[in-house]
Amino acid sequence: MSFKEKGLLVVLSGPSGVGKGTVCKALRKRGTDLQYSISATTRKPREGEIDGVHYFFKTRDQFQQMIDQDKLLEWAEYVGNCYGTPVDYVRDTINAGKDVILEIEVQGALQIKQRFPEACFIFLAPPNLRELKNRIMGRGTETAALIESRMTVAKSEMELMQNYNYVVENDQVDKACDRIEAIVRAEHCRVDRLIEKYKHLEGDDGQ
Ligand code: 5GP
Repeated sequence: MSFKEKGLLVVLSGPSGVGKGTVCKALRKRGTDLQYSISATTRKPREGEIDGVHYFFKTRDQFQQMIDQDKLLEWAEYVGNCYGTPVDYVRDTINAGKDVILEIEVQGALQIKQRFPEACFIFLAPPNLRELKNRIMGRGTETAALIESRMTVAKSEMELMQNYNYVVENDQVDKACDRIEAIVRAEHCRVDRLIEKYKHLEGDDGQ
């Protein structure tokens, strides 16, 4: 039987406002060979967001149904809304040998670590907290109270970095993307991923 390498599950996470969405978008634009999972959320669509493209927008009841039917790989409540990763897409894509990237907040990332420890956990870090606040404010869509609440969450989220395999500073989006691409390439060379392949080559000396 020939060796078929499974795809990698890359979990890109980090504090609110650090630029996870921007970095993911930039990776997409570069044509980096990653598949992007679409999350379910109970949040209302922002202007320009399309159902089934940016998120699957759900009511609370619909979201609860997904939880009850075990359709989510992870889910978390974040600033009053629920967000979750549909499990089927992730499982099918990885089994087809393609790499999947999830752009999620830290509670969800911790759940994946429990259920899927072999995933590659990348913590996207801000250069500093002032910069983070500027970015949260700069989005321009949030009220003062929401900004404060996001900052409080962000500070505690920074402490979760220790649970990750890699930390990538988002000083410049392009540099952050370079680092993520390098990490994914290195992960594909890990002995624990490939050792089976070379076992299959035993007895085949190429003659
Ligand atoms: P936003 O409302 O700005 O689109 O997203 C808020 C937060 O939810 C971001 O930190 C984003 O990464 C996170 N998020 C988006 N989708 C998911 C998901 O499927 N699961 C979890 N745990 N977080 C998500």
